[in-house]
Amino acid sequence: MGYGTIAIMSIPRPNPEAAAPVTHGSNFIRQVIESDLASGKHTTRRWSGHPAPGPVQATGEPDPAAIRTRFPPEPNGYLHFGHAKSICLNFGLARDYAGACHMRFDDTNPAREEQEYVDSILDAVHWLGFSWESAGHRNLYYASDYFETLYQFAEALIGAGLAYVDSQNAEAMRASRGTLTEPGRDSPYRNRSAAENLDLFRRMRAGEFADGSQVLRLRIDMAAPNINLRDPAIYRIRRAHHHRTGDAWCIYPLYDYTHCISDALENITHSICTLEFEDHRPLYEWVLERLVELGQLARPLPQQIEFARLNLTYVVLSKRKLIQLVDEQHVTGWDDPRMPTLAGARRRGYTAAGFRLFTERIGVSRADSWIDFSVLEDCMREDLNAQALRRVAVLDPVRLVIDNFPDGHVELCQAPNHPQKPELGIRDIALTRELWIEREDFSEQPPKGFFRLAPGAEVRLRYGYIVRCVSVEHDEAGQVRTIHCTYDPTTRSGTPGAEARKVKGNIHWLSASRSVPIEVRVYDRLFKVPHPGAGERDFLLDLNPDSARIVTAFGEEALADAAPEDRLQFERQGYYVADRVDHRPDRLVFNRTVGLRDSWARESSTAAPPPARS
Ligand code: ATP
Ligand code: MG
Repeated sequence: MGYGTIAIMSIPRPNPEAAAPVTHGSNFIRQVIESDLASGKHTTRRWSGHPAPGPVQATGEPDPAAIRTRFPPEPNGYLHFGHAKSICLNFGLARDYAGACHMRFDDTNPAREEQEYVDSILDAVHWLGFSWESAGHRNLYYASDYFETLYQFAEALIGAGLAYVDSQNAEAMRASRGTLTEPGRDSPYRNRSAAENLDLFRRMRAGEFADGSQVLRLRIDMAAPNINLRDPAIYRIRRAHHHRTGDAWCIYPLYDYTHCISDALENITHSICTLEFEDHRPLYEWVLERLVELGQLARPLPQQIEFARLNLTYVVLSKRKLIQLVDEQHVTGWDDPRMPTLAGARRRGYTAAGFRLFTERIGVSRADSWIDFSVLEDCMREDLNAQALRRVAVLDPVRLVIDNFPDGHVELCQAPNHPQKPELGIRDIALTRELWIEREDFSEQPPKGFFRLAPGAEVRLRYGYIVRCVSVEHDEAGQVRTIHCTYDPTTRSGTPGAEARKVKGNIHWLSASRSVPIEVRVYDRLFKVPHPGAGERDFLLDLNPDSARIVTAFGEEALADAAPEDRLQFERQGYYVADRVDHRPDRLVFNRTVGLRDSWARESSTAAPPPARS
């Protein structure tokens, strides 16, 4: 499968399946589900209360879940933004159709899996606002819990002549698999008797053979046009410690065999996966059909449905590359706020509602496309704009003195916590003679159209008074050290007549004596190009060298009360979050989530070639 259609999107892309607004009942997966519900396809399913072979499920109640979906990550890394799409999709469908979504760890690959990843994945799914509990059942499963059943099913397949032990080495197997244009060749071991295969398979399990010396293969068709059907291996010998089953097994089932059976044991109705599994669907169905014939499973069987994976510009969404970023310390860890992981997103201040909005907005389709990173950022802005309290911070401070403001005098200015939500109240900001303003809000030689502060010019101190710049002091290097102003006491915001005097500029400020020092981590995109590692290029060369800048800044006094993970808008700057790891009452640390506007807009519209598949 290649990238047939490459599109950089800044608005939802009009493709046949995703054109309609993606709220309810509007994508091809929903159509499949609705038609199954209408035809009653799944109403005969019975549920014994836990995953089980067909004969056991048959003893249960009618399945209380109208549909069952699942989210099946391999616990070999932290979840990334692509997984968020899959989670929102699977759990969202279960929610909308009175179903259940199972959380299943696809943990059949012992060497790469760890408990740390399991914990982080559960945490991320909960954080996104979903739960695997439904109707009193805790649908949290591990494929490794099915090892014994999978083994028994394999014996049944062997007994029926549908699987055999191949004693060829890996190289010989590869050489006889054929190509897209040439059929494969039968293994010399293909016609072993069922009894011999059963004996060999049992001895594989018992540990009599060396790693890699034997595999169990399905006996399908070495001439099948679909290479996945050319006697795929379903068990291999691997002496490796498993994070849950320890050393109980030295043979492990492979993905194609495990996945479809796990779905069937769990009564999954709709098994939703990404497009690269389309060519595996005939195998998925072959295995399940044979097991129905052997009396191990019951109809209706789960249906595999593929959708296009999320491709997002300016990030990498491949566990291998994410692991490399962490291992080689290009980032501070899996939860580095710049990482496209859900742990990173949370620390960055992205919101679960923002991810859910994003998933709805991009829709579900079978057409591969690229989503521009700004689409995700816009969803976050939209959600944050609605909820974030407004605060003032001066990130690059320069001193401003109001010469005619009495020394020691403090005036409290009232500022709304949220301009569109008066019910959220107001807070006081102290105005004194000496202030901090943003260095970039002053210009000694203002370019045309500069409406902020300049010698002789007037601006409004937001929520305060109109000031006029009367003189400027410089340091030895010629840098502006102090800006002197006078204020007009008749112009206080909110008092009658104050707004009669029109000034174009309106800048934020803080009292030098009544503000708090804050650490601000100004994060930007981790990669500087839309397609990191495009072509054969090393993706690390595309890292953005300016993706993290730490500044010491000043914040209004109310920031001293911020709790970790409080999300705020720093007025005129962007959205920030109190860091969930380092923020403390005696060390106020804020991470930049996203600016108020997209500063990457121009670069984003440049189409670039797709990256090599990872
Ligand atoms: P990687 O290829 O980076 O290792 P993966 O797909 O192998 O990721 P899994 O843990 O196997 O990761 O994925 C769990 C689920 O998430 C699967 O159902 C998979 O299809 C889905 N998923 C993974 N990446 C994406 C993506 N970019 N867009 C949508 N769904 C995804
Ligand atoms: Mg995978």
